[in-house]
Amino acid sequence: MINLNNIPKNLENRRVTVLGAGCSGVSASLLLARKRAKVLLSDAANVALSKQTLSKLEAYGIELELGGHSSKVYNANLVIISPGIPNTTPVVNKLESAGIPIVSELEMAYWFSQPSEIIAITGSNGKTTTTTIIFEMFKNTQYEPYCGGNIGIPFSKLIFETEESSIKNKIYILEVSSFQLERIVHFRPKASIILNISRDHMDRYDDVPSYFTAKMEITKNQKKVDFFIYNNDDTLIKQNVPDKCQNIPFGIYSDSKNIVNVDTNSIYLHNGQKLIDRSELLILGEHNLYNILAAFTVAIKFKISVNHLRNVLKHFKGIEHRLEYITSINDVDYYNDSKATNVDSVIYALKSFQKPVIIILGGKDKDLDFSLLIPAIKGHVKEAILIGLSAPKIRKVLDGIILLHDASSLEEATLMANKLSNPGEIVLLSPACASFDMFDNFEHRGKVFKETVLSLAQGKIE
Ligand code: ADP
Repeated sequence: MINLNNIPKNLENRRVTVLGAGCSGVSASLLLARKRAKVLLSDAANVALSKQTLSKLEAYGIELELGGHSSKVYNANLVIISPGIPNTTPVVNKLESAGIPIVSELEMAYWFSQPSEIIAITGSNGKTTTTTIIFEMFKNTQYEPYCGGNIGIPFSKLIFETEESSIKNKIYILEVSSFQLERIVHFRPKASIILNISRDHMDRYDDVPSYFTAKMEITKNQKKVDFFIYNNDDTLIKQNVPDKCQNIPFGIYSDSKNIVNVDTNSIYLHNGQKLIDRSELLILGEHNLYNILAAFTVAIKFKISVNHLRNVLKHFKGIEHRLEYITSINDVDYYNDSKATNVDSVIYALKSFQKPVIIILGGKDKDLDFSLLIPAIKGHVKEAILIGLSAPKIRKVLDGIILLHDASSLEEATLMANKLSNPGEIVLLSPACASFDMFDNFEHRGKVFKETVLSLAQGKIE
């Protein structure tokens, strides 16, 4: 076995099993192979890997098994587990009973990241938006930022690509998920950020406290010189702030020890210095204000110039599929919020609009409580169009509260929304569900919605 009491720097000739051949598993395998470990990459499914990936794996001498785990999996000194594999899977139980150490790809990549610093961002919602804002804020500064983690480029790929460069002041800005954090041992960011905690992924956790505990692992190894930046308006987080590093709150409604504050007109520093007028911000909604406050707070702690930060935010238009404005048709504004895969993000999306909304809801349920939508929907949403597997469950909850319609596809729902809407209203795709019942992923769902809306706008369909 590999001893994890200290960071294992030398993996030469050690046998490592990587479970899961998705992008993080592939990247982890390549990094491990470069460290001269003997790598077995194993996946229970018959994952379709590109020719390019297959030849790269082969070139690095990585053994690959797809469509099932053989007994070779257990012949390992160390196991790297992909975030998509639940702890309850038999292979994981068996590895655990055999006492083989299992760590996440995030943890393993960390071993080779030092001395560069890390900013790690987690939370139920807003991770990608906040990570992207922070990345933009650190560009063209005294740092050379690299962005990755959950956001697309796995941390091990970033390390693979950057560890041999002579660039100084590298900083890794990482979006991290609870699944990656569950399996860390030494991972220690210079700054950790928790944006919010809401019910999400209840299909993978027993309850909210266990989900929260996984998220709080982000602070596990932090010390007094490190920063923990947290949302002070979120009761669960606020009541569980650890006492191990410099705790720095942010929030809209609590200004106790915030270093960045906000009023109706502007965002400003504790000493009163204005950072930006709120009217200059291009991204909508209170939820984005939280994301911006978190980003400002960490950037100020890293001494990025205030003028630079202002300039970045003046130009930040948001990210695709997150409350993304598409176009207007007959004075009806269409927004794509396909990334809203849980109830909380839909509530925030609805709070961002004053005008009446026609919402498209539904998809693959993550065992969420849709009744939490009711207060945000009442009096604000005119009608809802339901799609996907969760439509009957949502109908049960919202029946009698607003007018409901069913559609058999997203295209049909979009045409229906177009017919139901009047000038001055909003059509919003914000499904509160995952997309896998009808689409490859949320990006695919958002793309289909945007294409349909644009075809309507161009008069190609009606
Ligand atoms: P994540 O990476 O955590 O899924 P994203 O930035 O991709 O977060 O946004 C996901 C969804 O949540 C979008 O619908 C977005 O509008 C909404 N959202 C973004 N920031 C927040 C926030 N701070 N609180 C609640 N919802 C948010």
